[in-house]
Amino acid sequence: MHTKVKEMKMLLGGKWVSGEETFEVRNPQSSQVIARVPLASKQDMSLAIDKAERTYQNTQVWPTHERITILERVVSYMIDHAEEFARIIASEGSKTINEARGEVKRATQTIKISAEEARRMNGETINFDQNEGSENRVGYHYRFPVGVVGAITPFNDPLNLVAHKIGPAIASGNAIVVKPASVTPLSALKLAEAFVEAGLPEGFLSVVTGSGRELGDILVTHPAVQMISFTGGPNVGERITQKAGTKKVSMELGSNSPVIVLNDADLHDAVQSSVSGAFSAVGQNCIGVQRIYVEKGVYSQFLDTFVTRTAELMVGDKMDELTDIGPMIEEKEAERVELWVNEAVSAGATVAVGGKREGAYYYPTVLTNVPESAKIAKEEIFGPVVLIQPVTDLNQAVELANDVDYGLQAGIFTSNIHHAFYTIKHMNVGGIMINDSSDYRIDAMPFGGTKGSGVGREGVRYAMESMTESKVVCFRLQ
Ligand code: NAD
Repeated sequence: MHTKVKEMKMLLGGKWVSGEETFEVRNPQSSQVIARVPLASKQDMSLAIDKAERTYQNTQVWPTHERITILERVVSYMIDHAEEFARIIASEGSKTINEARGEVKRATQTIKISAEEARRMNGETINFDQNEGSENRVGYHYRFPVGVVGAITPFNDPLNLVAHKIGPAIASGNAIVVKPASVTPLSALKLAEAFVEAGLPEGFLSVVTGSGRELGDILVTHPAVQMISFTGGPNVGERITQKAGTKKVSMELGSNSPVIVLNDADLHDAVQSSVSGAFSAVGQNCIGVQRIYVEKGVYSQFLDTFVTRTAELMVGDKMDELTDIGPMIEEKEAERVELWVNEAVSAGATVAVGGKREGAYYYPTVLTNVPESAKIAKEEIFGPVVLIQPVTDLNQAVELANDVDYGLQAGIFTSNIHHAFYTIKHMNVGGIMINDSSDYRIDAMPFGGTKGSGVGREGVRYAMESMTESKVVCFRLQ
């Protein structure tokens, strides 16, 4: 089928502009070109940052109620255009249409929470007279915006992760320049359209499309950018951290998330939620389940049911309502996953189900007997592959679960409260889900990791904290 190629513009300092050069956005399922998008130059990026800085500096007052109104109008726009947003996500990314609809709901919620949190961006009074000699002082502290936020986002949630940058930035009164993933810029541009339609004053938002390598350094090192909010892989994250110097940074990076299943777990629940956690968005999910440690007493039963359920997943056309598994974002990503699985198998792992690639499609795969030395045991696969391993008890499960350089989220299935509390205390992660897989998140909760999974927390309120500073005001009374 021939689809019309959309000619896109980017939002640069409040104006929709075409670039001197363009790049193509392809549907990963068909490799068809679906849009041509401006390939921004370094000058374009500098222009967007300069405009953001001038806009922020020249705006004497931007009252909270105006920011709330804009965010609320964006919410209405997203509700009215929900299906359009979902189709954009499903055509440029690798999510199925149902997963894309779910993401649109989440992103709408993210902007809605941003409007609500804008009302609550308060400080507090300070009890100065706790110090001798300060009896005649009164005062408070309040939060003020950092000024210009630079945001860089990944491909896997092309709308909601952009909403998690723009929503909190606008709610807290900042100007923001976004560089979305180059394979999935269309969802970000559509969200920018919503903000323009909602009457966002020119210059507060730019969405600059193009290569991360070309544009990233400018955004990260420009003196007018006060804070970098990055979501993406650990290698790029590390590079940005090095370049950012003394700027504030928020780093939402990768993981290799574990789930523990104990003898006393509800096995039906554990299988249902771990299968979905492992394979939603074809496993291209920062909190996707990658390792499952199952206590010996229920290991065979868990494995058998998990494998059966995995084999039932429908791999196919993303736009088909019945499809569970679409293609990966690019064929080379599916080839990489294939390589990792083959490497594990050569080292002694067994494929219990899956292990097959067709173009950009990689079939949901379960591995057992995976040796510790295999890449998949330690690094982030970011694909539809999960390893399942028996353990003798909870202690061993927690030890193995912690034995990676990441710590984003983890899950445990148990009906024993003591086991739950032991795991809460001993798992070195940013979030622990009891009777749920690692793949559980709502957009209001603090979200972020330990170790190589990053620095700082997102979730609207926490992102707003990182995009603001506190200022202390103290009056000396006569
Ligand atoms: P990526 O790191 O390859 O790219 C992320 C962004 O960085 C893109 O916009 C890219 O253009 C840009 N970029 C590339 N090189 C750059 C450079 N030198 N300087 C500045 N920016 C540069 O990540 P990806 O493949 O798009 O996404 C997958 C990764 O994102 C996974 O590791 C996943 O775990 C992680 N992720 C983390 C979270 C979280 O909240 N912790 C959420 C989603 C995805």
